[in-house]
Amino acid sequence: MKSLAKSTLYGLYKYTGAMAVQERLAYWSGRRFMSVVLFHRVTDAIPEDGLTVSTAWFRGFCKLMRDRFHVVSLATLHRMLMTGQTPPLRTVAITFDDCYRDNLAAARVLALHRLPATFFIPTKYVGTDHVFPWDTGLTQMPNLTWQHVKEMQDLGHEIGSHTVSHPDLGVISPAKARREMADSKKTLEDKLQRPVRWFAYPFGGRGNFRPEYLPLTRELGYDACFSAVSGFIQPHLRGQILPREAMPYFRSLLNLELHLSGCLDWFYGMKRRVGLLSL
Ligand SMILES: [Zn+2]
Repeated sequence: MKSLAKSTLYGLYKYTGAMAVQERLAYWSGRRFMSVVLFHRVTDAIPEDGLTVSTAWFRGFCKLMRDRFHVVSLATLHRMLMTGQTPPLRTVAITFDDCYRDNLAAARVLALHRLPATFFIPTKYVGTDHVFPWDTGLTQMPNLTWQHVKEMQDLGHEIGSHTVSHPDLGVISPAKARREMADSKKTLEDKLQRPVRWFAYPFGGRGNFRPEYLPLTRELGYDACFSAVSGFIQPHLRGQILPREAMPYFRSLLNLELHLSGCLDWFYGMKRRVGLLSL
């Protein structure tokens, strides 16, 4: 009942045009809502879960992105952030972590829609049958091979580093953390013959990375470092760890659209004011 009320409200908000008006007002008042979205798996081999969306959901996502958003590469998003350029309304970059083989099919679907993406790769597991501990007991999902990673690059996507062995950088020694960041970059650049500019640290929470590693990523030659902490990319984050929105959290594409357009910030505030906090 609660979710029905919620989707009715969201629907009304969007289809009466209130969303478009509010979004324009926010835009002209100087508020900017660039986002980086984060996927792990796009597959029908297992039920949807915290890391998995179905291929049908993903096709809907691609259509939504193509029709209603301004999707850019991380290179473009980063350039806009660093130069202070005003991003177009609804600017989004798309990323994937962990080198699941289904990412290749997703990369092809994205390319068909002319949507660029970045794939963050833990280099040790490419071309292996390694299973992450949290996937034990699930139908085995193979990993990408180097041939696949090259194909993704040839499709126009970017490849970033997700360390060598996917450790929690918040707990391993600084010397090991440095090797994880440096060696993965070198391996990717050797294999792909292209500079690797982006780093996403494993697990992505605030405690999974030490503040002193941010300058280290720069020293090692990365241009930006990404977490999996939710949030918009805003000018004050220039040179800081950049947030990403984990996608399966948004089961409804309408909810996702409202969130990524920045409208829900206002919407939550409005709900608080009229006492609809429980919705
Ligand atoms: Zn990961």
